[in-house]
Amino acid sequence: MDDWVLPEINIERCDQCGACIEQCPTGAVEMGPRGPFFARPADCTYCALCDAACPQGVITCTYEIVWGR
Ligand code: SF4
Ligand code: SF4
Repeated sequence: MDDWVLPEINIERCDQCGACIEQCPTGAVEMGPRGPFFARPADCTYCALCDAACPQGVITCTYEIVWGR
């Protein structure tokens, strides 16, 4: 599970609105008792839609993906 990069989740600020889960195209994240968690981490494509959807800045994609030539 440590072989791929995942968005960071700072769960303390989460109000469990569910926007990140609604926006995730792959179903990688699900809602847990305190907020989202990676139920299927291998399905995460690091698309950053969850980051863009979160109004609280809880879930963030730290790394920028740059395609080589
Ligand atoms: S980065 Fe994309 S695929 Fe990964 S959890 Fe967020 S929305 Fe889902
Ligand atoms: S969008 Fe942000 S505040 Fe809403 S459930 Fe997801 S992580 Fe929590």
